[in-house]
This record gives sequence, C-alpha cells and structure tokens, in this order.
Amino acid sequence: MFSQFALHERLLKAVAELKFVEPTPVQAAAIPLALQGRDLRVTAQTGSGKTAAFVLPILHRLIGPAKVRVSIKTLILLPTRELAQQTLKEVERFSQFTFIKSGLITGGEDFKVQAAMLRKVPDILIGTPGRMIEQLNAGNLDLKEVEVLVLDEADRMLDMGFADDVQRLVAECVNRQQTMLFSATTGGSTLRDMVAKVLNNPEHLQVNNVSDLNATTRQQIVTADHNVHKEQILNWLLANETYQKAIVFTNTRAAADRIYGRLVAQDYKAFVLHGEKDQKDRKLAIDRLKAGGVKILVATDVAARGLDVDGLDMVINFDMPRSGDEYVHRIGRTGRAGNDGLAISLICHGDWNLMSSIERYLKQSFERRTIKEVKGTYTGPKKVKASGKAVGVKKKKVDAKGDKKKAGAKSPTKRKITNRPKTDNLSLVSKDGMAPLKRRKPEAPAAE
Ligand code: AMP
Repeated sequence: MFSQFALHERLLKAVAELKFVEPTPVQAAAIPLALQGRDLRVTAQTGSGKTAAFVLPILHRLIGPAKVRVSIKTLILLPTRELAQQTLKEVERFSQFTFIKSGLITGGEDFKVQAAMLRKVPDILIGTPGRMIEQLNAGNLDLKEVEVLVLDEADRMLDMGFADDVQRLVAECVNRQQTMLFSATTGGSTLRDMVAKVLNNPEHLQVNNVSDLNATTRQQIVTADHNVHKEQILNWLLANETYQKAIVFTNTRAAADRIYGRLVAQDYKAFVLHGEKDQKDRKLAIDRLKAGGVKILVATDVAARGLDVDGLDMVINFDMPRSGDEYVHRIGRTGRAGNDGLAISLICHGDWNLMSSIERYLKQSFERRTIKEVKGTYTGPKKVKASGKAVGVKKKKVDAKGDKKKAGAKSPTKRKITNRPKTDNLSLVSKDGMAPLKRRKPEAPAAE
C-alpha cells in the first residue's frame, strides 16, 4: 500500500485517484530512501514504475502553500522528447492536488515560448539535454538553486552522445542536495564514470538485472530465409496473432518506411516513426496509437525510445537490434506494469549470431517458434560434428553461471530487490550479467 510511505496526504490522494494500489518493487525500494534525501543509483527497466519512484519523493519535498516561485528546485533530464513529455504528464498527474508547477524544455518546440515559461520559474523543470543547453547559453536558464537532480535513462542519454551536455548541466546545479540516476541497464564504463562523478555515496538499487526484464513478456524467435520471407511472416503475425497494439522495429529509416508502405497498402491502420520525422508527426503517431486509431507502429529505436502506450502487447523485431541493451529497451515497450506481452524476433541466417549473443547477454533462451503456414527452409546453423558431418540443430542450453561482476569506479552500497514472479520460459541469474557485446552506433537522434 502507498500509505506505508510517509508521503503527504495530497500525494496519496493523487496516487489513489490514479488507481495505483500496490507500489512496484522499484517504488517500494526507492521511495523511502529518496524521502531521506539519499543519492540513488537505480537500475530498473522502463515500465517498472520508476518515474513515480522519484517523482513522489520530489513532490513531497516541494509541497507547501501557494507562493511566488523564485527558482527552479528540481531538474529532471531524459534522453528523448517523448520520454520528457511522458514524465511531465506523470508529474502533473501526481501534483494535481498541489500548487507545484512543472515545465518542459525539449527540442522541436518553440524556443521563445519556452523562454517565457522559464521566466515564470517552474518548481520542476523536465527536458532533454540539448535544448536545455541552448536555453542556458541564451541566458534563459538558471539552475543554481536546483536541490534535486534526476538523470533518467542515463545509459541512453550517454549512448545518444549527451555526456558533455549532461555534465555541463550537472555542473550548473551547484547547490544540489540530492541526485538520483536511473538506467535500464547496468551500462558501461561511461555510465560508471558518470556515477562516480555525479553521485555522492549512493545507494545502488538493482531492481532488475537484464535477465529479469519483462518477466511477463514471452520472447520468441521465428527463422526466416530472407527479407521478403520476413515480410510474409510479419503479415501472418499481424493477421493472426491476438494483440491490441503492436510495434514493428527496424534498424533503418528506409526499412521502416518500406514496411510501413506495405502495411498501409494492405489497409492496416499503421504509422511510422523514425528520427527523420518532425515533432508534429511524432506527437501525432503517439497520440493516434494511444487513442487506438492506429494499431501498428513501425519504428526505429531512437523514435520509439521511452514510449509508454497502454495495450501495446506485441513487439516484432523485423531486424534484430544490434545490442543486448537495445533489445531490452525494445521489448520494454511491452509487458509494462505487469501486463502480458509478446516479443517476436525474425531471424535470418545473418541475424543468428547476433541473436545468440543477445541470448547470452540476457542469459535466456528465446522460445523457438515455427509457423507452419509461412515456414521456410532456414532453421538455424547446422552443428558440425568432429567428423565434419552436419547434424540437426540442438537447442542451446544457456548457462546461468560464470556471471562476473564488474568493478565500479566507486562502490556504492548495493541492494538487490526481489522482483516480480518469474515465468517458466525465462532462466534467471544474478546481477550484472554483462556479456561483452559490442554496442552499436545508435541512429543519430533527432535534434533535441
Ligand atoms: P514507468 O516505468 O514509470 O514508465 O511506469 C510504467 C507504467 O506503469 C506507467 O503507465 C505508470 O503510470 C504505471 N505505474 C507505475 N506505478 C504503478 C503502480 N504502483 N500501480 C499501477 N501502475 C503503475
């Protein structure tokens, strides 16, 4: 129950209004510590309820009578516009019975309108690093009195090349008293460097490790002979699977446009979202998907980052993501807040090794699925015996051992939180399961 937390009654009222009954594991773990003012490093997937985990303690700190606001008290940085917009909505929902005001600064929106909003001084400022820096350079932004700083999806912000911008904004918050850093993955050395530089003796909460992710999402692979065959499988899945809303991921904008064109030609209510689309298109795509007018979204990784759409219960990887982290982020679009989800990856000969490395990274074995109506000839690599003779492919057992911890630059107190019930098809292991997967160069983010 949320009443277990020492939160202001106006916040508990908002929580009840939103029909949140039980705190999620990340909320149960992080809220009490955040209320104490501790610095936190939290590794938790998107969809785990982490937004409320930091927003509620922040609002509790800020709550009070209506008064003239003179300085920004909280800064929340996120990697994409959509995620920033969603976070603003979440903050507004939780603060509906308070006098706390929030503002949004992202690319793609009118610079002057944002400057006017800044002159009114919001209590909480939410946004993406690029545009924040522009407002800072224009002399419109004063972060000197920020008390609480949140870096959400910090791993993704670094992946997207925002490290310098984030550092500069952190440095502007000279009087901050509390910093909370959230990431979906344990990240690499750049993230560890940032943790060491930015956090002060943090508590490290690992609510999920990558293997725990999406315990409610079934993960399957379907083998394909080539891209045209993949399209046939995709058509079959979209026509025969039971789903409310689906997202089809491609690795390139061109592939997203091609598949979108084919779907529209078949009268599917679809939309395409990628980095070349402008902010208006992106908003429209997300709004239509949320409203249910569009059932299928074809997207690249950058465009779909942080998307939180109710009823999105099927993710299809037309192209396999090029890193384990990206896979985690993609399937994080479904199975949110404990709902069931289905993630299906289409695997050609050229995708097999990548798929296997992602299985190793996650320490999971994806379910092999055959669809007889669109069955091809490729079923995975043939195993070669010592005699040199090819034999049938055996399902590989994933070894849950040999899971080495990485040394952090600083070593915060680690606390592992027991997570949701786990399904049978997932083999789970302990923390920090980071296989040495090559991180792919992400699609260039749209100017933020
Ligand atoms: P997040 O991981 O913060 O993006 O949250 C994912 C979704 O779960 C959002 O739609 C939240 O509104 C919802 N959510 C978060 N916490 C809870 C909760 N305790 N009970 C029900 N839904 C929740």
